[in-house]
Order: sequence, then C-alpha cells, then structure tokens
Amino acid sequence: MDTTKAFQSVETLRDNATALEGSCFCGKVHIKCNTNMPFPFMVCHCIACRKTGGVYCVNVAAEKDSLDVKGREEVKSYRGSTEVATERFFCGTCGSMLWGEDKRYPTRIYPAASCLDSELPRAPEEHHVMTKYKQSWLRLPTEYDDVKVEAYPEMGDKTRETWHIDNNLFGKAGDDMEKVALFSP
Ligand SMILES: [Zn+2]
Ligand SMILES: [Zn+2]
Repeated sequence: MDTTKAFQSVETLRDNATALEGSCFCGKVHIKCNTNMPFPFMVCHCIACRKTGGVYCVNVAAEKDSLDVKGREEVKSYRGSTEVATERFFCGTCGSMLWGEDKRYPTRIYPAASCLDSELPRAPEEHHVMTKYKQSWLRLPTEYDDVKVEAYPEMGDKTRETWHIDNNLFGKAGDDMEKVALFSP
C-alpha cells in the first residue's frame, strides 16, 4: 500500500481532524482520540470479529498518538499469537471492545464503532468483507446499490486510509462532528 499520500494528507489536514469519544458498557473505561478517517464503511465478518464483536464488527481508524484512555488499568488486550498482526483491547470488567492495533500500521488505532459515543458520519457506501465466515443465518443488505459484499478479500485491499482518500473523504467528517487540531502543542 502506498502510504505516502496518506501521510502527506495528514500533514495537510492536520487542523481538520475529528474528535471521537467512546466508553465501555460498565463505564470504567473512556477513550478519546482524533481521526481523519471517521467514516465506518467496512463491516467485517471474520471469525475474530464475529466472536468478539457480536456477529460482526465495524471499526474506524484514528491517530495512535492522540489516544487518551481513562481507566487504563481496567483495559485488557488479546492477540491470538505473536504472528497475528492485530491486538484487540477491551474492558476487563464488562468485555466491551474498545480498539484494535495493527503492527503493520503502527501510527494508527482502530476504535470499535460499537463503543463510540460520538455520532459517526454515514458512509456513502458499505463494504461487507470476509463474508465467507459470516454466520449463515445473517442476511446481507445486497438489495442496496451502495452495499458491496466481498467473500474473502485481503484486508489490506481497501484500507481505511485508501478508501477515505479514494472517496475524497480523508480529513472530512459529518457537519455535526467536532473538528480538533491534531497533535496540539
Ligand atoms: Zn467496562
Ligand atoms: Zn474482522
């Protein structure tokens, strides 16, 4: 993946990031972070998302060095093995998924849309990925033109960065979302 464009855009749009806030179900953990990629367009049906998220997961991407966690001592994480790129962080008391990290994209975190209290902008299209692994009883909304269904794509195929850049939505958010300065001094 060509990340040069993404990082240039981050420079350009540094003052245009959006603040996200989230919390777990029991309320012991609160997170805040800034994002240039707030559109929740990807719905993942892989086995890990299925088991940990409740049928499927939706994540967004945010800047790792903007992450602020209250109740950090409650947070636990899980990585299947050292070969697995992703580590999932969750509340050790109530089990709510909070965010993921991926060794391949070390400047990012991936907040679980399910824990976010901030309203996310509605994406102009929805990608259901890894549907080969979805639960068989679950119907997909394939009757909508803006819903794409992919049985088994490589997850790097359309990263959250490339999707936001391709759709000219990098650094953009819904009108009602609060804009913040990234890495404020
Ligand atoms: Zn909790
Ligand atoms: Zn998944």
